[in-house]
Amino acid sequence: MKKSIALVAHDNRKKDLVEWVKHNRLQLQGHRFFATGTTGRLILQVLDDVTLLKSGPLGGDQQLGALIAEEKIDFMIFFWDPMASQPHDVDVKALLRMTVLYNVPTACNRSSADFLITSPLFTDDTYKPAKKDYTPYLGRLVDGLGV
Ligand code: PGA
Repeated sequence: MKKSIALVAHDNRKKDLVEWVKHNRLQLQGHRFFATGTTGRLILQVLDDVTLLKSGPLGGDQQLGALIAEEKIDFMIFFWDPMASQPHDVDVKALLRMTVLYNVPTACNRSSADFLITSPLFTDDTYKPAKKDYTPYLGRLVDGLGV
């Protein structure tokens, strides 16, 4: 079954991501990709089915976060730059938070990305990542009031 895979790389990591995608083109072909604008334009040179979102600092990370909240993303490969601060650091943090909140398998470097796409679970359509039950949170008392 087609998976929906988010792809993002900061500028100093774009070359790594493009190389990784080229190296794994056969494995990745046939899936559907959602990428922040600049990353996506580079990936389009290698893969066909790429939906381009806005550039990360212009809202693309937030668009991906929204897709995760809508449970439309199966995996995320996000090569973020550990050596440079970003103008949209808060968006980066928010995006990574959403992947943890919704238990989306996420790889932030090449070796983790290799493990992710070679896992038998990557192609196992019966595997669904466990969803955490947030019912207690939704039913909490706020200032003594039920919501
Ligand atoms: P970009 O955004 O692909 O548009 O460069 C990446 C990011 O910084 O989130």
